[in-house]
Amino acid sequence: MTIAQKLGFDVQQSDHARTAAEREQVLANPGFGQAFTDHMIVIDYTEGQGWHDARLVPYGPLSLDPATSVFHYAQELFEGLKAYRQVNGSIVTFRPYANAARLNRSAVRMAMPELPEEAFVESLEQLVQADRDWVPTTEGHSLYLRPFIIATQVGLGVNYPSRTYSYMVIASPAGSYFTGGITPVSVWLSTEYTRAAPGGTGFAKCGGNYAAAFVAQRQAVENGCDQVVWLDAQKHEYVEEMGGMNLVFVFGDRLVTPALTGTLLPGITRDSILKLAGDLGLQTEERLVSVDEWQAGCESGELTEVFACGTAAVVTPVGSVKGADRAWTIGDGTPGPVTMRVREELVGIQYGSRPDPYGWVHKIC
Ligand SMILES: *Cc1c(COP(=O)(O)O)cnc(C)c1O
Repeated sequence: MTIAQKLGFDVQQSDHARTAAEREQVLANPGFGQAFTDHMIVIDYTEGQGWHDARLVPYGPLSLDPATSVFHYAQELFEGLKAYRQVNGSIVTFRPYANAARLNRSAVRMAMPELPEEAFVESLEQLVQADRDWVPTTEGHSLYLRPFIIATQVGLGVNYPSRTYSYMVIASPAGSYFTGGITPVSVWLSTEYTRAAPGGTGFAKCGGNYAAAFVAQRQAVENGCDQVVWLDAQKHEYVEEMGGMNLVFVFGDRLVTPALTGTLLPGITRDSILKLAGDLGLQTEERLVSVDEWQAGCESGELTEVFACGTAAVVTPVGSVKGADRAWTIGDGTPGPVTMRVREELVGIQYGSRPDPYGWVHKIC
């Protein structure tokens, strides 16, 4: 049975697919999230009927009524993962069922319908198969996959969630996050703003979290930093995450990462690193980490490295920290050996140059 027959996907090939030469031009310098492939996935949902009309269609603009619910009340969620071209030529994704499960946890919080995990994974397979020539062959490059769901009911009533939704997947070739070697980022401690509070949507991967975060990210840049670090809502004392990546603190051979308290995003990269750590001879701890512990640890030399982790950048070293009334550097400000070892292992599994002991790699074609 071909994939197309499983969910009854209607496959509509694009008449406007770009030529091989046009595609190669994009793939030569893809950047991140700028160019998109020739097709996309759409599956509609109607209350009472469930998910229906699964289809692969040409990539293109949507036509939506201006009163469509998502534009006004932000009932939206998304996922992010990558397709990799492995060293043996296969195209794979990484732990797609973990993304499917997280999409559904986000959906429950946003009063949106859950999508069967099989349908989620199949939608990725459909799109990547159709656009497999868009999966880069350059080392370290990948095809970024962006599944998302929007509320499509027309009307401005606020008392009920939408009764209709569309799930879509688009794909974008992605270059190396780091051009010209891995360089540590500088981070800004946000004590003025809060990303998420208990009972809020911090654990859900929804656009609203990002909408509320841009102002702090801009403040980070104004203070000469690359990224914002979010702290707990009550006291701005404990470290949560970076707002697109989770944080890991390296105390010699111990990895310490903020516990999943409900106000930070449960990253699949974070989870994978916690599971791999033992194989690399590293211990792990999930607990509260305060800003004071971070600074004191760097000053005493006990805290040797800090890195951020997420699908887009994989593992990114953090080199320096700045807040309203403090600033310090981590180690000597260059990428540390534990950070690089963790990165190498994870990337090795994704691209197939290392064994995959946990069965995380999901072959598409
Ligand atoms: C997606 C995301 C992450 C990283 O999650 P991965 O599954 O590792 O890519 C971290 N924080 C936020 C806020 C995110 O949206």
